[in-house]
Amino acid sequence: MAVEILAEDDVKALVDGLDFAEKVERALALIREFYNRHGDRLVVANSLGKDSCVVWDLAKRVSSRIHGFIVTTRFKPPETKRFMRQSVARYPELQVFENDEPVAERLYETDPDRCCDILKVKPTRQAIKQLGVACWVTGLRCTEGRTRTDFREVEERDRGLIKLNPILIWHEREIWQYLALRQIPVNPLYSQGYRSLGCAPCSKITSGGDERAGRWIGTSKCGGECGIHTRPLTDDLI
Ligand code: SF4
Repeated sequence: MAVEILAEDDVKALVDGLDFAEKVERALALIREFYNRHGDRLVVANSLGKDSCVVWDLAKRVSSRIHGFIVTTRFKPPETKRFMRQSVARYPELQVFENDEPVAERLYETDPDRCCDILKVKPTRQAIKQLGVACWVTGLRCTEGRTRTDFREVEERDRGLIKLNPILIWHEREIWQYLALRQIPVNPLYSQGYRSLGCAPCSKITSGGDERAGRWIGTSKCGGECGIHTRPLTDDLI
């Protein structure tokens, strides 16, 4: 049976309206439904963060055939690069994209939006184009921070490109609950106290604040977005 696609306010009601088991079932049903529609043109965007680890596992429960892509940058911490190598070794169907074009020194301090645009958004566009993606699946959650409250489970921000956010309504503790129950390995940086992981210069351990409060501290982008969820991703809108 098809999952009912809800309006934004109705989605927010589900954050505390469904229990953990119901959220797992809903996420699996969403992925299954869109995989049935799009087949191999449904692709998981795996950032290697805790949320992506959950989405990747959910997708693999739907079909072992589902593949994904990872966008990495020259500034990712060594722990993340190591975790990426381990993940790709285990799942060769995860394809890595990286933009190696030169950027100004310390651009992440002087113009982090531009830095993210070059190093994260561009290779995401390349992945979507090269893999012929019709539906990309993300680990975005509406309880992560101030910039993530207005998303929906199914979106079409770019014409012809569906974005599926199957764990949009999950709480942070439910992510850790799922990872523990399924015994899924995560990036060892979480054991140091990070709650949200990105490039090394732009990710800090914070006490208090929301989950993304440690991202881009000291810049206008603090707690914000790299752009892959907010910028156009297909050629006709760039
Ligand atoms: S997270 Fe920081 S270093 Fe990484 S691409 Fe964005 S601004 Fe650059």
